Amino acid sequence: MNDSTSTPESSAPSNFIQQIIREDLKNQKNEGRVLTRFPPEPNGYLHIGHAKSICINFGTARDFSGLCNLRFDDTNPEKEDMEYVDSIKESIRWLGFDWEDREYYASNYFDQLYDFAVELIKKDKAYVCSLSQEQAREYRGTLTAPGRNSPDRNRSVEENLDLFARMKAGEFDDGAYTLRAKIDMASPNMNMRDPVLYRIRRLHHHQTGDKWCIYPMYDYTHCISDALENITHSLCTLEFEDHRPLYDWVLDELDGVAHPQQIEFARLNINYTVMSKRKLKQLVDEKLVTGWDDPRMPTLDGMRRRGYTPASIRNFCEMVGVTKSNSVVDVGMLEHSLRDDLDKTSPRAMCVLRPLKVVIENVPEGHKEEMTLPRHPKDESMGERKISFTRTIYIDHNDFEEVPPPGFKRLIAGGEVRLRGCYVIKCEEVIKDAEGNIQELRCSYDVATLGAKPEGRKVKGVIHWVPADESIDVEVRLYDRLFSHEAPDSAEGDYRDFINPESLMVLRGCKAEPSLVNAVAEERFQFEREGYFCADKIDSAPQQPVFNLTVGLRDTWARKQG
Ligand code: ATP
Ligand code: MG
Repeated sequence: MNDSTSTPESSAPSNFIQQIIREDLKNQKNEGRVLTRFPPEPNGYLHIGHAKSICINFGTARDFSGLCNLRFDDTNPEKEDMEYVDSIKESIRWLGFDWEDREYYASNYFDQLYDFAVELIKKDKAYVCSLSQEQAREYRGTLTAPGRNSPDRNRSVEENLDLFARMKAGEFDDGAYTLRAKIDMASPNMNMRDPVLYRIRRLHHHQTGDKWCIYPMYDYTHCISDALENITHSLCTLEFEDHRPLYDWVLDELDGVAHPQQIEFARLNINYTVMSKRKLKQLVDEKLVTGWDDPRMPTLDGMRRRGYTPASIRNFCEMVGVTKSNSVVDVGMLEHSLRDDLDKTSPRAMCVLRPLKVVIENVPEGHKEEMTLPRHPKDESMGERKISFTRTIYIDHNDFEEVPPPGFKRLIAGGEVRLRGCYVIKCEEVIKDAEGNIQELRCSYDVATLGAKPEGRKVKGVIHWVPADESIDVEVRLYDRLFSHEAPDSAEGDYRDFINPESLMVLRGCKAEPSLVNAVAEERFQFEREGYFCADKIDSAPQQPVFNLTVGLRDTWARKQG
């Protein structure tokens, strides 16, 4: 990791979680240990919101010389899959974090969770309930009305023990019984109204196979898993604040288990996207995107394929900070962080996206003059690249106008423009087809204009170009935001109605400078005057790269900040 930015042991400004932990360390709480965990449920791919949680959990541990576990909260086999387990691990590693050998699964604890449930029953703190799901919902009450006790609430301990053992043994149908905590059906906190601890579900589990036909509920499992791992600080998002009393209840009722301190922070929300795994899965299942790794998706796999760097995501999470109030972050800030990193790290190259043929008539046939351009304007260590100036070249259609709009600084009929790193050319003639479409330009070049600007010569603009014979044909995919609405989630109507129909534009036959033929999967470039691009890691073939637009050059967010 290259970004040990904060020094929490010092008095440097820090977020509220770091302040709490520093205080705990001062008071010798947890014998000076700091152990956090990142607890995904393997029911989807990770998204940028998870990146915030990963950076907070792994980052906080690192800052205090502690450790962070990876734990899969795998209590719902119906929705989970090994495909998700694998992708989650890959994404965390890619982001730059390491859980070493501390890879755990809540399902590792199923035996202990069962024993703890028996302990609760013996203490008359849990009971087997025969209410159906629908009845239970009715008995539960509402936010304004208290619930009612289940008719089974006073079952004897012996009977509960017997029924629970038989639930485990597979004697009952799915849904016939649940095990519930005996807390308080009148509690203003709905989570405390005798929540279900176990349900009967005959499902194959990706870790435990067919060993179990009863599965523990998420809340019950989560707090005990944290305790069994001796987590010191259980960092989670704000929506779990209302679950904390239940976690406290469970851990206090059980003998001899640790009691991690839960601290809640605000979720990350970003405009122009959706971030719930359910919706992301729906986009994939309904083929509205090409997969979880579609470059338009806010998943870490999608962002990686798009060309995001791990550092840009970590820096963004750092910029967002850790707070207690939910808000929506401008996607422009994420893109700003990305540009900031790419500007420093991406070699420059030229690629003409919409080629327009230009014949330079005073260059003889077969003439070739090698131009040397730096690979980076500031970073000399990146070296140089060679491009041949020849009679026929390509420039971008957008860089020529017959009727230029005001302020147009590129090539016009009879006008001059500089070719990047090369000569000034002048447009002598515009050649059109029968329909009046521009076919090619006939130009001349001024031999005296190479290198430093000659005295008294004013050229309005600089455009990019490639030699016709030596350029390579590439496919370029231009991406825009997946949603055209700022808040697709909360807008009226279905979020899918706001998918931007122009979020993907495929350009074939783009002309790239020859050095790009060797671009390898995930290699990033700045295509001069166009934006940052990344060789697609799936569809690029050797000597045949396909480029994804990562992000354009214009930073509107930074400008807004003043
Ligand atoms: P979703 O609501 O998208 O299904 P989730 O919270 O159910 O996500 P988990 O796999 O349970 O997904 O998440 C793992 C961890 O990541 C949790 O601690 C969760 O709080 C955190 N997390 C999920 N989404 C965000 C977010 N948008 N911002 C910050 N942390 C998040
Ligand atoms: Mg969750």
